[in-house]
Amino acid sequence: MGPVDGFPADPVRPVPPDEILVGGRWRRGGGDPLVTRDPADGRVLAEIHATGAGDVDEAVCRGHEAVRLTRDALPHERARWLTAIAALIERDAEGLARLQTADTGKSIGETRALVASAAGTFRYFAGVAETLEGALTPPRGPYLTMSTHEPIGVVGAITPWNSPIASDAQKIAPALAAGNAVLLKPAEWTPLVALALGRLVCEAGLPEGLLSVLPGPGPVTGDAIVRHPGVGKVSFTGGTATGRAIGAIAARKIMPVSLELGGKSPTIVLPDADLDLAVAGILFGIFSSSGQSCVAGSRVLLPSAMYDEVLGRLVAGAEKLRVGPGDDPSTQVAPLVTAEHRDRVAAMVDRARADGARVRCGGAPLPGPGNFYPPTILDGLPADSAACQEEIFGPVLVALPYTGEEELVTLANATVYGLACGIWTRDYRAAVRLARRVEAGTVWINTYKQFSVSTPFGGEKESGLGREKGREGVLAYTRQKSLYWGLDERPNPWAGPV
Ligand code: NAD
Repeated sequence: MGPVDGFPADPVRPVPPDEILVGGRWRRGGGDPLVTRDPADGRVLAEIHATGAGDVDEAVCRGHEAVRLTRDALPHERARWLTAIAALIERDAEGLARLQTADTGKSIGETRALVASAAGTFRYFAGVAETLEGALTPPRGPYLTMSTHEPIGVVGAITPWNSPIASDAQKIAPALAAGNAVLLKPAEWTPLVALALGRLVCEAGLPEGLLSVLPGPGPVTGDAIVRHPGVGKVSFTGGTATGRAIGAIAARKIMPVSLELGGKSPTIVLPDADLDLAVAGILFGIFSSSGQSCVAGSRVLLPSAMYDEVLGRLVAGAEKLRVGPGDDPSTQVAPLVTAEHRDRVAAMVDRARADGARVRCGGAPLPGPGNFYPPTILDGLPADSAACQEEIFGPVLVALPYTGEEELVTLANATVYGLACGIWTRDYRAAVRLARRVEAGTVWINTYKQFSVSTPFGGEKESGLGREKGREGVLAYTRQKSLYWGLDERPNPWAGPV
């Protein structure tokens, strides 16, 4: 494991010191302390003073200054900063993964994959920075017309707790590639990996002020970032209610905003599906990350004629999953992020029970220390019940039967969300037909929860606005400008000879 620069030499939990990054300077935050705990045993990992209002203001001012000073940096120079960050993430990969497992509870296999994906994201956007082109547009008169992209200035990046380093990278890398300064606000429950990433970004030689890392409570620090008149865009990932509130403030500021929000994604089994593939994929889609994933396939739609058979296999598979601490490499279902969140998941399952759900497996928190909740499968609920409509964000799968394609499509689309969908079938025509009819930003066919940084990602309906990743991911952090170059040698005839 590589050391995380500037951290106390604890080989297992390299917790960063109580400092935040304000416009290139590390110092204690001006807000109240945030306590972050290990979800596997409840131990306090760190106390970090949150960002104060003055810190946000200073980060914005220093961000603008940094953008001004780096305005002339060429694309290949920006790309070099991003590849240097990627290399340091790779150097310290094991320490970052362990830190993230300690802070979020996620299994070490998952956090290793997230760290690798963060490094890949910086490398990918380095490539995009170097190859992104403006356009020479077809002229309609004696001039040359061009469309170019310019940085917005200072942008806010607000991220949730479930996959911190990957969602942080997904915003920081394209925003820097486009020439902006970024104020990163990690979730209050899991600030540590963003601070560790901040240390690496400084070590990589990114010009001072282009990145600030500002942990703090959402309604305080996040709100201050969104409302700040010097912030020209906010890219937000989190819950739909928060996204709606941020969108309302953005509308008043006439500020662009990207919103990656919640989901209640259906995963559909067609009668001809390869059931070995489908059952394993559905279990992974809902129970990996303990269901704390925006794209979790939390509703499974099964053909009535095969309902009992497939549900039986899912229940048998769920009961075999190994629940344990994230740092045990054999763990498949790790603890939930906080005791408060585990209690919220438990309350939603209890509500489903009261609504008439049959609990096929799981259904109650595990005793003992740590925020453990077992894989849970519910059925017997109407499609409009809370458990079929609301995001539980835990290891809870709801099964629903369907008869025929029309009922299937109606059920698949019958929530306010539209983030993702899985389709399990051998019939490619049916897959294409359904993929077009489901309201979802991403459709996986015979696979689930796979990502590639070059493929745009985002939601429909109340799952969000805008796309991240892909070449368009950089354009989301730019303003488009059109240039007309006059080529006419004669004076404009409208004014006549003067
Ligand atoms: P959340 O909305 O409570 O918080 C997300 C972030 O917003 C945190 O940093 C939080 O501090 C901040 N925040 C909270 N209130 C704020 C406010 N008033 N102003 C500004 N910032 C504020 O969400 P969460 O509980 O941290 O994360 C879980 C949610 O995130 C789930 O709904 C999940 O589906 C969603 N999510 C979506 C995606 C996606 O890409 N679509 C990815 C991961 C998570």
